[in-house]
Amino acid sequence: MTKRIIHIFKNDLRLSDNPSLIEASKAGHIIPIYIVDESDLHTDSAQNWWLQKSLEKLKKSLDNNLYFFKGNYKDIITSIISENDIQGVYWNRSYDSYSIQRDKDLKLYLEENNIEVKTFNSLLLWEPWQVAKPDGSPYRVFSPFYRKGCLNQKEPRFPLPQPNQINYFKINGSKDIKSLNLINGFNWYDKLNEHWDIGEKAAQKKLSLFLEDGIDDYKDGRNFPSKKNVSRLSPHIRFGEISPNQIWYAARSLKEDRNIDHFCSELGWREFSYYLLYHFPFIEKENLNKKFDNFPWTNNLEYLQAWQKGSTGYPIIDAGMRELWETGYMHNRVRMVVGSFLVKNLLIHWHYGHAWFNSCLVDADKANNTAGWQWIAGSGADAAPYFRIFNPITQGQNFDEDGIYTKKWIPELSKLPNKYLFNPWEASSDILNEADLELGKDYPLPIVDIKESRSIALKAFETIKNKS
Ligand SMILES: Cc1cc2nc3c(=O)[nH]c(=O)nc-3n(C[C@H](O)[C@H](O)[C@H](O)COP(=O)(O)OP(=O)(O)OC[C@H]3O[C@@H](n4cnc5c(N)ncnc54)[C@H](O)[C@@H]3O)c2cc1C
Repeated sequence: MTKRIIHIFKNDLRLSDNPSLIEASKAGHIIPIYIVDESDLHTDSAQNWWLQKSLEKLKKSLDNNLYFFKGNYKDIITSIISENDIQGVYWNRSYDSYSIQRDKDLKLYLEENNIEVKTFNSLLLWEPWQVAKPDGSPYRVFSPFYRKGCLNQKEPRFPLPQPNQINYFKINGSKDIKSLNLINGFNWYDKLNEHWDIGEKAAQKKLSLFLEDGIDDYKDGRNFPSKKNVSRLSPHIRFGEISPNQIWYAARSLKEDRNIDHFCSELGWREFSYYLLYHFPFIEKENLNKKFDNFPWTNNLEYLQAWQKGSTGYPIIDAGMRELWETGYMHNRVRMVVGSFLVKNLLIHWHYGHAWFNSCLVDADKANNTAGWQWIAGSGADAAPYFRIFNPITQGQNFDEDGIYTKKWIPELSKLPNKYLFNPWEASSDILNEADLELGKDYPLPIVDIKESRSIALKAFETIKNKS
């Protein structure tokens, strides 16, 4: 008898280079399912909006053969198995502690019931347990992790083509994406539509365009938010519409140079985030560096709101926060600058920034978001030292010199001469009048003084500096 295999889609919403789907298709007739795990759901978030669109695209590529479920993984699989004669359940592995435990329990249950279980790696270039320091302990510093740990391993798996043929087995179940209730009537989502083309094909197209016309000056250009030198592939990678292996090999197939190496090393930072989450699972909620547990955060909620709304009075910060709200994305340089401002100048715990990004980013990713915030707060692995406080004025002047990015997101500053774009409060009243700008009315005055808040932050750090 031909085997019937369930493939559980997770963060692998693609047909090509999907090891579990490919093996399941070879082994027999497949039942592709997607389960919304309610305990792990991020309601009212941009990532849910992306997920819904991506699942719709995936269902089309599977000739409408994708079943949607919501609830507990084990209960759902048990119920499908009890109603159908199923021989195997395959999936691609996850690396956060919640999913690892959930999948372990499911595997145990299936094996006890003589159902074949196969799991695969579709998410990472190197499995986190393969990479270790010579003494066997996990790396905590990026450079040796990547150069000694990863690049000395055997080359990542070469990407696999999509299955030649897929035979489906039909079950009773909903194929209506609306049954998942991923997004409600929130009209915030409408504007995200303008900025993104979603799904496996769109991801491949974006990669090709970036390799043709963006990677050339990646190493330097990636720092400037108005340049086209970043790929914007992050949400596609987050949902597995494209695999890191596909990106790695597509980039490596071009002539070797520092831009390609640097781009691949950023994929390496992603590996590092997953590696940290796997080896130190508590970092999703707790500081990796325990001395930060005693940090005297002040968590002023009015400041937090001003930051979220993009009305801090610091143009590069406000441009970034408005870009995030309008598009669900923020350029990496600006993520670092707004992050530093929140945790250092405003003394607000990184948890608040993490939660806001988790709601607003279309690429919100357990590993990258956590590692990014701990890095910026100084509490993470190989983190930015706490005393490195990004200055929003000079960051704007250095990385958006001509103001293209800032003026795009803060049009009320569009007539201001670039000399004052990042410090409008220093412009004379004549200059402000000419720019049709009344500070405090058309655009806010700074909510904190940059020098003073910096010195308060450094004093706060002194209180924990010598703690172990
Ligand atoms: C506070 C903070 C929070 C962040 N939260 C997230 C998040 O939730 N999801 C997310 O994908 N990235 C996050 N990042 C990392 C980084 O900002 C984004 O991956 C990057 O901006 C995505 O844009 P891109 O695809 O154009 O990147 P590119 O420069 O084109 O890089 C290609 C890919 O490499 C990976 N990458 C690049 N930079 C980093 C990095 N610093 N760390 C880890 N992986 C990286 C991403 O998968 C990215 O898509 C965060 C960074 C900070 C400072």
